[in-house]
Amino acid sequence: MTAGRRIGILGGTFDPIHTGHVDLGTAAEQRLGLARVIVLPSHIPPHRPQPLASSFHRFAMVALAVAGRGSWQASDLELRLDGPSYTTDTIRRFHEDGYDAAELFFIIGADAFTEIATWKDYPNILDRTHFAVVSRPGCGVGELPTRAPELAARMRTGPLDEMAPDRPLIFLIDAPTAQVSSTAIRRRSAEGASIAGLVDPRVQQHIEQHGLYTSMNPGRRVDEHVDTPAAGRLHGQS
Ligand code: ATP
Ligand code: MG
Repeated sequence: MTAGRRIGILGGTFDPIHTGHVDLGTAAEQRLGLARVIVLPSHIPPHRPQPLASSFHRFAMVALAVAGRGSWQASDLELRLDGPSYTTDTIRRFHEDGYDAAELFFIIGADAFTEIATWKDYPNILDRTHFAVVSRPGCGVGELPTRAPELAARMRTGPLDEMAPDRPLIFLIDAPTAQVSSTAIRRRSAEGASIAGLVDPRVQQHIEQHGLYTSMNPGRRVDEHVDTPAAGRLHGQS
């Protein structure tokens, strides 16, 4: 496994992308020596609770957030699909593009990882990519081995060994990430409160310019469920 081929995949609803997401990707990038981080907004099919911002706006915000980072990319892979975004299908596409499990690192916050047993293709998905699990304020990685004892044997807290492991691992990364959520940003925007410092300045400008999280604007879906939390974990659920 050469560092040049280590690819981080950071999935999420990104409604909107915020500084916590950037901290999450940066922590994994630095700890694991990733060559690239691919930020991949999920496609939410029509029958699921929908994000407030359209897929187009969510992608635009991700592209703006990665604009200053040469090794990061926004990917429309899942948004181009008609069906739901299951992580296992996305990982399979990377395999079809020539990457093997040892080169892929699915980056995820500790809160989301605690639901992994509900994901499509669990537990086999753990053999298709490494996982880089990063702490989130209020949700550390320290308790994960006791919360998921069946996975403890493949969890690692140290740096990445240059020796290729015989199967993908779960890297636990304890790192400070901003205490922010997309839900809080949507709420603050709707109330007219400032979101400065919570998102990249370019993302803030995009949100304000298009009034994404305020009522009566063209960037919002017409059939939205007001105050519905984004279906963030669609990523894995069957
Ligand atoms: P929402 O409030 O809409 O659920 P969110 O802020 O949780 O949004 P998501 O798009 O649901 O963001 O999350 C995408 C990924 O980013 C998940 O793996 C989640 O655990 C992680 N994540 C989100 N915010 C943080 C944060 N502040 N620190 C670390 N990880 C985070
Ligand atoms: Mg979430």
